[in-house]
Amino acid sequence: SKEDVQAFLKKNAFVLFTVGAVVLGIVLGFALRPYKMSYREVKYFSFPGELLMRMLQMLVLPLLVSSLITGMAALDSKASGKMGMRAVIYYMTTTLIAVFIGIIIVLIIHPGKGSKDEFGKQQKIEQVSPADAFLDLIRNMFPPNLVQACTQQFKTKYGTRAVRVTVTVNDTIFNSTNATQEIMEITREEVIPVPGQVNGVNALGLVVFSMCFGLIIGNMKEQGQLLRDFFDSLNEAIMCLVAIIMWYAPFGILFLIAGKIVEMDDLTQMGGQLGMYTITVIIGLLIHAVIILPTLYFVITRQNPFLFIAGLLQALVTALGTSSSSATLPVTFKCLEENNRIDKRVTRFVLPVGATINMDGTALYEALAAIFIAQVNNMEMNFGQIITISITATAASIGAAGIPQAGLVTMVIVLTSVGLPTDDITLIIAVDWFLDRLRTTTNVLGDSIGAGIVEFLSRHELRSKDVEMGNSVLEE
Ligand code: ASP
Repeated sequence: SKEDVQAFLKKNAFVLFTVGAVVLGIVLGFALRPYKMSYREVKYFSFPGELLMRMLQMLVLPLLVSSLITGMAALDSKASGKMGMRAVIYYMTTTLIAVFIGIIIVLIIHPGKGSKDEFGKQQKIEQVSPADAFLDLIRNMFPPNLVQACTQQFKTKYGTRAVRVTVTVNDTIFNSTNATQEIMEITREEVIPVPGQVNGVNALGLVVFSMCFGLIIGNMKEQGQLLRDFFDSLNEAIMCLVAIIMWYAPFGILFLIAGKIVEMDDLTQMGGQLGMYTITVIIGLLIHAVIILPTLYFVITRQNPFLFIAGLLQALVTALGTSSSSATLPVTFKCLEENNRIDKRVTRFVLPVGATINMDGTALYEALAAIFIAQVNNMEMNFGQIITISITATAASIGAAGIPQAGLVTMVIVLTSVGLPTDDITLIIAVDWFLDRLRTTTNVLGDSIGAGIVEFLSRHELRSKDVEMGNSVLEE
């Protein structure tokens, strides 16, 4: 009946808008490509998308901090310890599976054919030592200045900011002073910021701080009440903001996608090795996202994984549009809590950590890309080197920030560890904007399924906490 249709439309409005936005974005993008817009015109055109990116990123800092603090404070240390262990085991297992799939797929398909000629010219990349990169990761966990950890820091003394690909654009803006040039380079995304720092926020450092802080105020008696209430209420308020931004999201996504399609390079190169490489990555990510993760979810919870994934659609599309798991975080929260009814004590705890360190797609990608580069260079990787790649790819995915193309930067660590030329990262840079979106979507899916699994495994602790607090307990 008419009411049914209306009710259906209302309930699924977000999903319909979002899917519509993606389709429209793709169509619009391809329709406008023949007009060959200048860089400046593309910037103007994708402005609504840029705004969405900024709005989402604006919420990341308060959301990350308030959710982690309240999440940790809501449980006693024993319960959160158990939940933390489960999350860590899940993260490690799925990341390793992802790496494994990446390696197997690239060895089977063998997209690299031992010739670099067809890739065009290459750029120089600074070398970094894996040891420095590793220390940088630990350094980021302990920001010396909390205020600074929340603000932009584009410079670092240490090696990890290795990929600095500056594209010369024939645009009047670039002929002005050095200062303007610096700003334009940063907005152009080709300068890729330091891993572990998202949008100028040192996410890893804030995660570590917030977890400790939350644990402490959770253990404090009356004295901690004020802080607990404060962060709880901050978290609620931020989530209300998220709800508003969600209405704007489809519009922003439309322009993010259309703008990117307008601006992308011609796909003439795609016939050769780069095309095969792209297909290999897509197959690997699909196996992980569509087969492995759902199966894992089903085996553990005995529930339909695809219903679960359907509830996440908005978050997955946002990941595709923004290519940043951190920027997607607010939407992931909304989907999991409202559509999939995951306990807030779980989401607040596992989602911020997951978005910062658990990146299945990135891990898969880095291992696969490293072996591809070896193939292009006609170098056979022996078993030991493949193990090294697995370990460094895992570390690199942990170290990569949830921002666009961060995985490309941390690739340097993987390549250096087995003696592959780091300059060869530029061979795959042409397709990275696209593959980045796919691996980000896989990353967000991995985090979300993790939340579902951790909730299921922690149901007894959550229940006994409810009983203790006198909350109404739903019968299972
Ligand atoms: N863009 C990815 C993310 O935000 C990280 C990567 O570059 O792999 O999850």
